[in-house]
Amino acid sequence: MYKGQCHCGSVQFVCAERPEKLVDCNCSICRRLGALWGHVSIDSVDVIAADDATIRYIQGDKTLAVNTCRNCGCTTHYESLQQDGKMMAVNFRMCEPGSIKEFQIRKFDGADSWTFID
Ligand SMILES: [Zn+2]
Repeated sequence: MYKGQCHCGSVQFVCAERPEKLVDCNCSICRRLGALWGHVSIDSVDVIAADDATIRYIQGDKTLAVNTCRNCGCTTHYESLQQDGKMMAVNFRMCEPGSIKEFQIRKFDGADSWTFID
């Protein structure tokens, strides 16, 4: 179980799945957010937050919605908007540092080649 929350605690999550790695992506939004994404099945995550607790930012190609706490500004997760969207990503930066130090962190070139570059 991995638990995380935004700084103010309005948005919390519990993730039952252990992602095989955490992803540090350099695409236009991820490099700005500085997120460490763990990609997991949507069924394995409970997001505990009021319906209006997050801002949902949907990018140009409308493939995913990035959720950010309306109060403290921390980005907690994104969800796929694809028809078959069974995956989501949790920002493991919201977890206690000690609980994520076991993970391998991979650098993903989302800006250009769409491959891992480490
Ligand atoms: Zn917050």
